[in-house]
Amino acid sequence: MDSHTTSLIYSISVRLLATLMALSLLLSQAAVAASPSLDLTDAEQQWLQQHPTIRLAVDIDWSPFEYIDENGSYVGMAAEYIGLVEERLGIHFEVEKNKPWPEVVESVKNRELDMYSCVVATPQRREYASFTKPYLSFPMVIVTTDQVAYVSGLKELKNETVAVVKGYATQDLLEQNYPELDLYLADTVSDALEALSLGRVFAYVGNIASVSDVLKRKGLTNLKISGETPYKYELSMAVRNDWPEFTPILQKALDSISEQEQDQIYQNWIKLRYEYGTDYSLLWKILAGVSLIILIILFWNRSLNREIHRRTEAEHKLNDAHQRLELGLRGGDLGTWDWNIQSGQIKVNERWFTMLGYPADELQFNFDYWAGLIHADDIEPTDLKVKQLLDGEVDFYDAEFRLKAASGDYQWIRARGQMVERDESGQPLRAAGVHQDIDQLKKAQHQLEQVNQQLLNYFDIVNKFVITSATDVGGTITETSDAFSKISGYSQDELIGTNHRILRHPDMPDSIYEELWQTIANGKTWEGELKNRKKDGGYYWVHAYISPTLDEQNNITGYTAIRQDITDKKRAEELSITDELTTLFNRRYFNIIFPREIARAEREKKVIGLILLDVDYFKLYNDNYGHHQGDIALQSVALALKNTIRRAGDFAFRIGGEEFGGIVSTDSPEQVTEIAEKLRRNIEGLEIKHEYNPKSLHLTVSIGVKTHVCSGRQLPEMNEFYSQADDALYQAKAKGRNQVISI
Ligand code: GH3
Ligand code: MG
Ligand code: MG
Repeated sequence: MDSHTTSLIYSISVRLLATLMALSLLLSQAAVAASPSLDLTDAEQQWLQQHPTIRLAVDIDWSPFEYIDENGSYVGMAAEYIGLVEERLGIHFEVEKNKPWPEVVESVKNRELDMYSCVVATPQRREYASFTKPYLSFPMVIVTTDQVAYVSGLKELKNETVAVVKGYATQDLLEQNYPELDLYLADTVSDALEALSLGRVFAYVGNIASVSDVLKRKGLTNLKISGETPYKYELSMAVRNDWPEFTPILQKALDSISEQEQDQIYQNWIKLRYEYGTDYSLLWKILAGVSLIILIILFWNRSLNREIHRRTEAEHKLNDAHQRLELGLRGGDLGTWDWNIQSGQIKVNERWFTMLGYPADELQFNFDYWAGLIHADDIEPTDLKVKQLLDGEVDFYDAEFRLKAASGDYQWIRARGQMVERDESGQPLRAAGVHQDIDQLKKAQHQLEQVNQQLLNYFDIVNKFVITSATDVGGTITETSDAFSKISGYSQDELIGTNHRILRHPDMPDSIYEELWQTIANGKTWEGELKNRKKDGGYYWVHAYISPTLDEQNNITGYTAIRQDITDKKRAEELSITDELTTLFNRRYFNIIFPREIARAEREKKVIGLILLDVDYFKLYNDNYGHHQGDIALQSVALALKNTIRRAGDFAFRIGGEEFGGIVSTDSPEQVTEIAEKLRRNIEGLEIKHEYNPKSLHLTVSIGVKTHVCSGRQLPEMNEFYSQADDALYQAKAKGRNQVISI
């Protein structure tokens, strides 16, 4: 196609576009009710009386919608609607005629102007203004130079410089939805299209009506409409939202404008203008092509309508989804992010920033800014997750990382999201998702982990160093620690299922175990020292705490024992109180035990007896059989003593040399004498040969006994008690030895 033919088609296109616009106007008219009479309430009328003058925000250069003409008059389609509204409501609009559009927007925000005559309802504007139903509607199109063949959609303008008018709804729409476009902000449509015509920008995006109008007026013949967008310009009046009374009044006025009136306005500004501009001289040259082009356009129009329908439906669905999302986000206190992967721009909501304590001034930044906030330790794992998402290895992105907060501290965030757009070749275009503040959660988790680790450490330590076991209620072992096996020599397998009885040492009197069982079966803790037998026959001492385990109803379900190895301590103790030669208690221990046992007997009102024993003619034994043989004889005597007085509460001592002592507690003094006599007989009965004993063929002993019947009134004096027993011994010697004397 040569350039001449192109410009012909362009010229036809413009005319046919006018037809399209007529169609879209009819569509928009459907939204406006057919001229009902103005039916203002008393309150509404009163409000109007109080506000006879309304300051009107208009675009001074936005033909054919509105502009200020050479005479300084406010004209255009919107101006005619405004005129009709003035007439119906009997009020006066004071038009701001000097400010460029961006300043006008600021003035409405500041309440220096009261309403817009003709604007698109954008979310940003809804924050400070309330809107009537749209009264004009036009598709939004892409304009380029005629060097560009066809633009399939806004996506194709990626990385190109695209002009929009600063502050127009297109700016908001494109920034929001096509952040990858490089926007050139022009002051007016004319400026924008002039920049396009001069090649400073690649395309202009704007509504079809004003585009056509400017193209025509400015004679910018190298420009053409080369593509469509999913957006429509739906123009409404909008009132400062602290005037809620006025919007319904305006709506009533707009509703009262009849179809004929609307059609007339349309004729005035669109149809006539284009017909006026028709180049009849060229018409004959293109007649041949017209039918074909009309067919194409009609087909395009039909598919366009279908597309509009499809998109409207999709938009509704999207709106629904959006509302649900918003609710979900608010409920979940979530930040949102929307990452344009090609441009690297990330858009977020306010919560995204406030979560980290930052002010939410600008809701957009590039990828590097985000990456710069990530804690150094989290960069690598997070990078990996992002890469997996980009490569399509995962459908959902779910990462936890720390971001630097305003306080300078790092804060845990959980980010989730997914890829929402890829191009035809599968290249990622857009990913979006949410941020959740999980700082408290993470910190609690961390603490819990630490506590758990500590518990595990403790458990290890306990297992290794503390002798523990648990039994069921019958005393059968159910659990043991390693330390238990180590000290007892029994493996865990050998211990579990058996009874603690296998560990019982014969040195431990029955009475201790009776007391132990009585205590724990009553639900109390027993504490005490126990001597246990090892598997190899050795022994060990423990300090044990044994407690019942209770269920919710306080029933005993078993017992737990914790024991400390006190074998070394016990050995040292034993050494310090034991006579080395005979293994009886020594004189030192006698001095400790004796007063204690007297006191105990007094408490229990028992009879206490002190038995003192001295080997007869032992000097002669030593002299004749030797000192070593003497030692062996002393060990035999000691064993006989130990075996004779062995009940609980009885103690046997080596007082020194060949003198021994025994403390016994009985119910009567006779019993003490009986024990002493039995002892004397037992020693003689050992039949240790002593040829030099004038009284016997064997080794004999003399015994002195002192008994005391406790009354609870007065404790006998210890030294006195001892010396009386010693006196009795002396008497036994004096009376011929190998006999017992009791006092
Ligand atoms: P009596 O019948 O009067 O008690 O005569 P005795 O010879 O036993 O008299 P004495 O108490 O004077 O003698 C005690 C002797 O016991 C003196 C000492 O040689 C002997 N002896 C004391 N301790 C030991 C010991 O540890 N080993 C041996 N082999 N002999 C000891
Ligand atoms: Mg002696
Ligand atoms: Mg002696």
